[in-house]
Amino acid sequence: MEWQGFIVGLQNIIATIEYILLDRLSLMGEDYIMKYDYLIVGSGLFGAVFAHEMSQRGKKCLVLERRQAVGGNIRCEEREGINVHVYGAHIFHTNNQMVWTYLNRFVQFNQYINSPMANFRGELYNLPFNMNTFRAMWGVRTPAEAKMKISAQRTEIAGEPLNLEEQAISLVGRDIYEKLIQGYTEKQWGRKCKDLPAFIIKRLPVRYTYDNNYFNARYQGIPIGGYNKIIEKLLEGIQVQLGVDYNTVRSEYDCMAEKVMYTGSLDEYFGYRLGRLAYRGLRFEMERLEQENYQGVAVMNYTAPEVPYTRIIEHKHFEFGTQPVTYITREYPQEWQPGQEAYYPVNDQRNQDLYNRYAGLAGWEEKLLLGGRLALYRYLDMDKVVELALAAVERELGS
Ligand code: FAD
Ligand code: UDP
Repeated sequence: MEWQGFIVGLQNIIATIEYILLDRLSLMGEDYIMKYDYLIVGSGLFGAVFAHEMSQRGKKCLVLERRQAVGGNIRCEEREGINVHVYGAHIFHTNNQMVWTYLNRFVQFNQYINSPMANFRGELYNLPFNMNTFRAMWGVRTPAEAKMKISAQRTEIAGEPLNLEEQAISLVGRDIYEKLIQGYTEKQWGRKCKDLPAFIIKRLPVRYTYDNNYFNARYQGIPIGGYNKIIEKLLEGIQVQLGVDYNTVRSEYDCMAEKVMYTGSLDEYFGYRLGRLAYRGLRFEMERLEQENYQGVAVMNYTAPEVPYTRIIEHKHFEFGTQPVTYITREYPQEWQPGQEAYYPVNDQRNQDLYNRYAGLAGWEEKLLLGGRLALYRYLDMDKVVELALAAVERELGS
């Protein structure tokens, strides 16, 4: 009799659990069925382009974003008619006509050309390094005079430059290195120029013309109406869940989709099991000023070592704003701590090797696709991100 009672009791418990489970399943219904073709982790430019293109091709997509807003680092916030670049100044530029044509389907670009200034202890210089810079530095007037000056200063570097300091001196001479490069670079990267790779400085043009355009790019501009417009249009009609960190809910979501396009950090995906990848951090300090025009230019670099920030951005100038007030942001480089936003990957040998080991692990994950600057652990400009996202779609659908 006692046994029978026990068995009935057990049966009741099992039935109750079954009921609760079935109830939950029917409530959440379709979510437990493989419902999406692609789960896209991250609503930055990469995730948004990938999601858009896949949806256009009839694939069902769900985008997960752990922030409370879409757009990743190109997100802007509107303040009194001014689009504030909350994650740092973003200037779109490209030589890739396909990417330019693609983005122009969603938004038009204005005629902004980036021509930043450098401020060294109150002395102002044009960037990138060009005849205007050389004239202000040495009073030279012709390209031949500038070349003579730089040639004389670069003789101290014999042979192939081995680090950023040598590369910089060999490109523009010691005067410019000491006033416009050394302080800025050492603040930016938190290490000595002698300990940094030469390639970082090669990104900057050196020109013997009076041309202050910072980029050697055929196409350049800021989206009219701001970067958010691009993301909004790309994600139109696509399901997005905000405030969801995929890495903490993975088991719930993975079963809903055939494949996962992950654009977050790869070490985080694997629970840091091989160690942490390093990043360079940034801190942004925004200020509203009761004046129409603070510095007369969108970007002013502060190149002296004693100024703790690297640049001040005056956002309205990206869009030729005429508002009576202005918003500026001081950008402070800082050591990155786990849990903070990861801005620049530190692509030194140790970190690159570690990343490669994580990428090896990712190769074993059947559903997993990687994209974007975090998952690829590469500094990627926006045009490259679009190019890679479009290529990832082609690769997927071609296979
Ligand atoms: P992100 O924009 O970082 O998007 C990734 C998204 O994934 C984020 O929204 C993040 O919250 C989300 N995410 C991450 N992990 C998870 C998770 N576990 N769960 C859910 N969501 C997750 N490029 C230019 O072309 N011109 C410029 O002038 C320029 N200036 C820059 C200035 C700074 C300071 C920086 C840092 C970058 C700059 N860039 C510039 C580069 C540009 O920001 C990138 O090319 C672009 O934003 C990368 O897009 P993404 O989608 O790969 O990454
Ligand atoms: N740089 C410099 N002085 C400047 C601006 C740039 O020395 O006023 C150097 C610095 O080392 C920087 C590199 O040039 O890391 C590349 O500059 P870019 O503007 O591309 O850097 P980012 O916008 O990514 O900070």
